[in-house]
Amino acid sequence: MPCRRQERDSGASRRRGACRCLSRGRSFVAGSVRTARENCVGMRGSRQADALRQRIVDAVCHEKIFPVYQPIVCLRSGAVHSLEVLARWTDPELGPVPPDDFIPIALEASLLPLLTLNLVRRACAEASAWPGVPRLAFNVPPSLLQDAPAVRLLVEAISGSAFPQERVCIEMTEDELIEDDATAEKALGYLKSHGIRVALDDFGTGFSNLVRLSRFGFDELKIDGSLIQRLATDRESRKVVSAVIGLGHSLEVAVVAEGVETEAQASVLRELGCDFAQGWLTGRPMSSHDVIALLTATPASTLSTGLAPLSPYLRQHQLSSLYTGAPVGLAFLSPDMRYSAANTEFARMVGRPLSEIVDAHVSQVYAPGIAEWILRESRQILGDGTTSTVEFRFPDRDETFLVVGTCVTDETAQAIGVSVVAIDITDRKHAEEEIRAREAIYRGAVELGPNVAWVSDGDGKLTYISPAPHEPEGGTMDARMAAWYARMDPDDRMRVHAEWLAAIPTQDAFETRFRLRWFDDRWRWVSSRAVLRTTADGGRGWFGVFTDISRQVELEEQLARIDPGIDAR
Ligand code: C2E
Ligand code: CA
Ligand code: CA
Repeated sequence: MPCRRQERDSGASRRRGACRCLSRGRSFVAGSVRTARENCVGMRGSRQADALRQRIVDAVCHEKIFPVYQPIVCLRSGAVHSLEVLARWTDPELGPVPPDDFIPIALEASLLPLLTLNLVRRACAEASAWPGVPRLAFNVPPSLLQDAPAVRLLVEAISGSAFPQERVCIEMTEDELIEDDATAEKALGYLKSHGIRVALDDFGTGFSNLVRLSRFGFDELKIDGSLIQRLATDRESRKVVSAVIGLGHSLEVAVVAEGVETEAQASVLRELGCDFAQGWLTGRPMSSHDVIALLTATPASTLSTGLAPLSPYLRQHQLSSLYTGAPVGLAFLSPDMRYSAANTEFARMVGRPLSEIVDAHVSQVYAPGIAEWILRESRQILGDGTTSTVEFRFPDRDETFLVVGTCVTDETAQAIGVSVVAIDITDRKHAEEEIRAREAIYRGAVELGPNVAWVSDGDGKLTYISPAPHEPEGGTMDARMAAWYARMDPDDRMRVHAEWLAAIPTQDAFETRFRLRWFDDRWRWVSSRAVLRTTADGGRGWFGVFTDISRQVELEEQLARIDPGIDAR
């Protein structure tokens, strides 16, 4: 039989197949350190291999192989969800031998069903004394599912123990299922009919047949540690893990990430909506005694499936409903300049059916000139990681859109696209144009002589004043007010201000006069009058106007000269 062992850089990636052998620097040949492959090839058929097999047979038959337990922890709450039972064996001469080495040999010696039953009995007995309600997960050997009497024995061993069988989970890898799908399906049905849960182990390393995954009705999906190792640094594995989590959740299956060693990995998994983690980070395999201490300190989670109430996929679903119904145009442009998503409002704004926008390249959606401009803007947003806001108008249409493009990044700050929000501001634009047109009329009128409207709030603070002739476009209201104020005779400013402050509390009509340097550089007398009225928003405001009274003042002065009893001011 050929050796199918693959090298692995971490203990979490799987090696299966009929040929497994000693590894991790320890060799059965005392005194010489041989690689796993050397052992595999060199020991086959040798006396040493026979002796090793004999030791393993002895260990299984005399129950020297014992269970340890590794916690599987809820990524959100930190509660212990379950404990995976892992076989351990320490040979008096070889020291600890890892299961990857003795399990295949026990399998070859047809001893794996017996080893499994021993571990099940012992683990169930130990776990029945644990506090809380954790689950127990067992690894079943490839052959067991194909062997109906062995499956029956397994169920009997579980149901005959003091540990509740509905808290037991059986982990199996995909290659345990492919030998004979029909028999495996029957075996799984039998386990499930006894309330035993089933988990698909090492997902992502084998055939990952999705049809099989849904057909067998798994309760849990365990993502292989080899995929998790690169999670925090490698975008591609993040995509795969994210897809697997989405797949699990769409099948309403809880997802466990194996081989979680760092907080960085856990944090990415949390963001991706993964339910549970197993690995060095949350706990090494431990004795039953240590499990009791752990469960006393960290309570086990309740018997819920542990599915996150709102996974990213549900959230995405909710978001897409919002997306569809939003009164604004929404679209997402991927870095290859294709629309990966858009809503109907966006399609309406663009003036094309949604089906011609989603998945299409920008150059396929717009006329060349516009497409070029959008491509340039979008690439700049992606490159700079910024947000850009522009007013956009199609050349042949009377609509104006305020378009906000924002660079979207993933957890590692890599740009993954541009989110586009478009708001129809046509009405606002029309209103602005109307105001501008009216102001142009004012401006023209004001040029002929001072006739300037102004508005203040109820407390007397100026909020509006007509534009001055020749005022530059686009200036602020504050600048406009300051410009008018600068034209007041400095001698009058203080007096008018004091009169205004005194008038406000009385709420009576206000009137004063002052000198203003007009745009022909001549000084004019103006009269400023105001009344308090209800404003459009239901508040109170002063509506005023100042008009040219130079001629009137001139006449008053003449009269005063004729009759000094008249006050000409
Ligand atoms: P498995 O079922 O995938 O078990 C998980 C393996 O990953 C365990 O190795 C565990 O110690 C290791 N592991 C857990 N967390 C981490 C981590 O953060 N980083 C790394 N690098 N490794 C981690 P172990 O105990 O050596 O078992 C290896 C394999 O042997 C198991 O893989 C399983 O396929 C098999 N095995 C173990 N016990 C049994 C058993 O009782 N019956 C059967 N049939 N197979 C068993
Ligand atoms: Ca396992
Ligand atoms: Ca596994």
